[in-house]
Amino acid sequence: MKPSKSLAKKREREIKADDSSDADTLANLLTSASADIRQYVSYFVDNYNEDGTLAINAMRTAPNTTDLTTWKKFIKRYKQLLYGNSEAQYRIKSAQKMAGFDRETLLNSIIKVITSKVAIDAETFIKQAIQSEAGKEVTFQGNVIKINGIPDGDLDQQINDIVENFINRETQDLTLSNRIWLKADALAAKINQAIHKALVAGIDVDSIDDQLFYETSRLNEDSVKSVSDSTIKYYVHALLLNEKALIVAAIGAFLATHWKLKRADWYTVEDSHVCQACKSLQGANPYAASDIPSKPHIGCRCFVIYY
Ligand SMILES: [Zn+2]
Repeated sequence: MKPSKSLAKKREREIKADDSSDADTLANLLTSASADIRQYVSYFVDNYNEDGTLAINAMRTAPNTTDLTTWKKFIKRYKQLLYGNSEAQYRIKSAQKMAGFDRETLLNSIIKVITSKVAIDAETFIKQAIQSEAGKEVTFQGNVIKINGIPDGDLDQQINDIVENFINRETQDLTLSNRIWLKADALAAKINQAIHKALVAGIDVDSIDDQLFYETSRLNEDSVKSVSDSTIKYYVHALLLNEKALIVAAIGAFLATHWKLKRADWYTVEDSHVCQACKSLQGANPYAASDIPSKPHIGCRCFVIYY
């Protein structure tokens, strides 16, 4: 039987609410990393400015005892936070080798480690979101055909296997984890570049934020703020939302076969962002369950209900 309008609406609301809270969680990871980085930039600006400006020369000096104590405290705290992750261990080791060279390298090393924490948290969060989205699709599709709870023990295991294979799959030779770490490394490199540029110009005690950490930073497209924002966009759109849409499609198709459902309808989320291609797909309902079109574009939030 064709699913009711209210059931489809309910799914639409669920998708939208999850997307926006998930995006907030990822944005918060980057915001708190930025705040942490700002604290260490301030440390150098406060301690080594001359007449209110921190110049590159002061940063090209070997770290003194206070700097090294600051570094040791930092690394002790972060080692615990990053414990047990091999990607992070590798980055910590290389940061530890480099840190003593000069103050700028010390700051670069701090930033590498802070962005490693971003990668770990983003990876954990995105994987959980994929898992939970898969679970919601099972529950929802079950509701559509009035199955309450898991009808057979095997299904649970099969769903877990699909999710696990999905999370570990490679696209263009890269796993989800690879892509998260590559982006975090690029983030560290770009932040270090932005700070280097600011140091060459001289970082002012009173305007660290204007120069580096605000939306309207003077070094705008290279500021820590703009680099963080573009990383958030990538994590949210290219990874989180896209991966969620793909797992939901995969689980839906699996369930249709498992429960021998013959038909399916395509639904858009019905807001102003829905494109013409997606509207046309909805217009062509119903489909044979075995013949669902693939997503027409990245970021497509459409969903399919089988019945
Ligand atoms: Zn769409």
